Amino acid sequence: MQQEFIERYELQHQLGTGAFSEVKLGIEKKTGKQFAIKIIDRSKCKGKEDMIETEVKILQRIDHPNIVKLYEMYEFDGKIYLIMELVTGGELFDLIVGRGCFPEKETAEFVKKILLAINYLHDNGIVHRDLKPENLLLSEKSNRAEIKISDFGLSKIFNEVEVMKTACGTPGYVAPEVLKRQGYGNQVDLWSLGVITYILLCGYPPFFDQKNAELFKKIMAGKYQFDHPWWDHISERAKDFVRRLLVVDIKKRYTAKEALSHPFIVFHCGETITTP
Ligand code: ADP
Ligand code: MG
Repeated sequence: MQQEFIERYELQHQLGTGAFSEVKLGIEKKTGKQFAIKIIDRSKCKGKEDMIETEVKILQRIDHPNIVKLYEMYEFDGKIYLIMELVTGGELFDLIVGRGCFPEKETAEFVKKILLAINYLHDNGIVHRDLKPENLLLSEKSNRAEIKISDFGLSKIFNEVEVMKTACGTPGYVAPEVLKRQGYGNQVDLWSLGVITYILLCGYPPFFDQKNAELFKKIMAGKYQFDHPWWDHISERAKDFVRRLLVVDIKKRYTAKEALSHPFIVFHCGETITTP
């Protein structure tokens, strides 16, 4: 496997790092084609090693314009190498930091694409579980760039404690049912999307506190506001959309399909037909 990998790819500089991995530029020697190669330490997947192959097989079947494509997996020397589509536009996170906030139309367009990807994943029985602007990548450095979800599915392999610990850097996106350890399903992604939409519209997060314990309390209570003056000019349509996602009760929270047909999305981007 190692031999095969080395013959096929040349590893180059680092593109980024994540909670469990390092991502490097990889060149396919035969074609000169560029890929992103995600290198994961197997020791970080303790007890769930058997799941990796199964999960990767599922992820390999995933094919959507707004999801970073996973092509292949190699495994040697205690590490897993995932060969992925290369995207070069950076993280949505940096775009937000650079621009502050986005007009409603642009927000709706971004959010719709993320929703289409989430809807596709959920239809295929996959929950992302770690949606946040750092995991939303832009396909290229231009204003026509596509938004691409990265870093999905595999999160369930990593142990929960590890995830919670690392989530502490950005716990603001975690759904209340995760913090309550109630066991959770695909609704968590819609909560995270609610947080992302809120941030895109106003430039700061709905739930914030210096102390994580306080932050967790606010999230579990679903306590947030549309603060004056930042939200004064934002439409009721947009606020209503956020309100339907940041709902503590998972039975009342919008699904991806419901969100896609909300007036905020339809008004700015038109109707979408999704399979039931
Ligand atoms: P983790 O699962 O460990 O959090 P990510 O998949 O989020 O890892 O990747 C970490 C970082 O590496 C990303 O935030 C991004 O900067 C970079 N990266 C990830 N995937 C790609 C890709 N397909 N193309 C280019 N850069 C990528
Ligand atoms: Mg990540």
